[in-house]
Amino acid sequence: MSLVVQKYGGTSVGTIERIRNVASRVARTYDDGNDVVVVVSAMAGETNRLVALANEMCEFPSDREYDVLVSTGEQVTIALLSMCLQSMGYNAKSYLGSQIPMLTDNAHAKARIKAIEDKKIREDLKNGTIVIVAGFQGIDADGNVTTLGRGGSDTSAVAVAAALKADVCEIYTDVDGVYTTDPRMVPAARKIEKISYEEMLEMASLGAKVLQIRSVEFAKKYGVVIHVRSSFDDKPGTLVMKEDEEMETVLVSGIAFNKDETKISIFGVPDHPGIAAQIFSPLSHANITVDMIIQNVSSDGATDMTFTVPKADFKKALKIVEEVAKEIGARGVSSDDSIAKISIIGVGMRSHSGIASKMFQTLAQERVNIQMISTSEIKVSCVIDAKYTELAVRVLHEAFGLSLETDDEE
Ligand code: ADP
Ligand code: ASP
Ligand code: MG
Repeated sequence: MSLVVQKYGGTSVGTIERIRNVASRVARTYDDGNDVVVVVSAMAGETNRLVALANEMCEFPSDREYDVLVSTGEQVTIALLSMCLQSMGYNAKSYLGSQIPMLTDNAHAKARIKAIEDKKIREDLKNGTIVIVAGFQGIDADGNVTTLGRGGSDTSAVAVAAALKADVCEIYTDVDGVYTTDPRMVPAARKIEKISYEEMLEMASLGAKVLQIRSVEFAKKYGVVIHVRSSFDDKPGTLVMKEDEEMETVLVSGIAFNKDETKISIFGVPDHPGIAAQIFSPLSHANITVDMIIQNVSSDGATDMTFTVPKADFKKALKIVEEVAKEIGARGVSSDDSIAKISIIGVGMRSHSGIASKMFQTLAQERVNIQMISTSEIKVSCVIDAKYTELAVRVLHEAFGLSLETDDEE
């Protein structure tokens, strides 16, 4: 007998019919003799709808109330799934994050899981009950509802799997695995059979939303093997696991893109020690994550700085930066909210040179201008004009030999 954690995403629970389909998959796993814990997302589109309502109500909704609102989508699906399983004759019980409890820190809208109380879940499993947990949500030490950031149900599932030492953590979604790039943008994308935690971490943090970044961090830390697969068929998906020798032979294993960032530049910044801290501390205090940062060579004691922040924090960040710019006597601030970051990822890059220059050449051939560059051991990222996203991803996918051969197509 195994303990299986299954997570079903928004599309998989998007209608009553689809929730029935999920219930029958869960029932099948249970009938095979397994203990089953299910983590579900809100119905497709529901969290977006709730976020839009919050933004319609006021320009800067308070973080606490935002979480109270956007966490409600999952309450609907856990109850519906549980009802469906009960009507099929199974014992099923739903839990909100606060009922487990799933303890998090108090960083609303991007809370981190600190501990999961497994007592109730274990008791239920012992009694033959199928446990259904609301993804994406938790509770902080003061009893406030928190949410884990968009796509956070993946993290809920992996954290539950780690806490229960589950045998498998299956993430069911609307594609049948992790592909070399988003298969919805590039139809020639290829399914990856096995991918290392490191590569998946880069893919996720660079824009491939198939798994939330933190879910991969958690999986890596606790050695949870994630199986990403489709809730609409039974094909094997992608295993996210520890790196093996086979993986290292592939130079570039995937291409990611992110259109959710924006660029802010500060010009004529007085260049002296402490100035970067003066600019970036207020952003970090406001819980805004700054991604790429470029500082130009200074001339006449002044320099320019350009950095990227998530689209969701753009207005807040710009306001802060404009205030800081005045305080420090900078010449001005400009911004661009139509950029895209394109990245190539592969553990094989560690031992090969020339990958970055091949990326730059490929973009140059298409006359795509590179605005910012950043590299790490296993990735190269370029910021470009958002209107070239699809073109850039397609040509890079082709240039690095990732595209399916036409006669290879499934
Ligand atoms: P869920 O609601 O099940 O959590 P998501 O929409 O969060 O599903 O994630 C699945 C989506 O991720 C797919 O529909 C696909 O468009 C997108 N995606 C982006 N990059 C990739 C990739 N490299 N491989 C697979 N899917 C990807
Ligand atoms: N429902 C949440 C969202 O849309 C969490 C998730 O789907 O993972 O972001
Ligand atoms: Mg998701």
